[in-house]
Amino acid sequence: MRVSVDRDRCCSSGMCVTNVPEVFDQDDQDSLVRLRRTTFRPEEFDELRLAAQLCPGGAITVTEDRPTGTAEAGGPAD
Ligand code: SF4
Repeated sequence: MRVSVDRDRCCSSGMCVTNVPEVFDQDDQDSLVRLRRTTFRPEEFDELRLAAQLCPGGAITVTEDRPTGTAEAGGPAD
């Protein structure tokens, strides 16, 4: 899983920091979100997905990794 934050969309609500303080933090200068780290444990995945859903600015993007060994899907259907 990858998590990215868009500081241009962050409205400094602090909700992500309240919900997952191990991962999210707010900058001391501008109060905008920043990530404490970029690797995550599987047991954190659900709360990271929830943090992205609850972010009022839509500033958190969670990207799921593809399972290893899975064949690529075919190209566009048309
Ligand atoms: S929940 Fe969203 S808007 Fe609020 S501080 Fe975190 S990233 Fe910024």
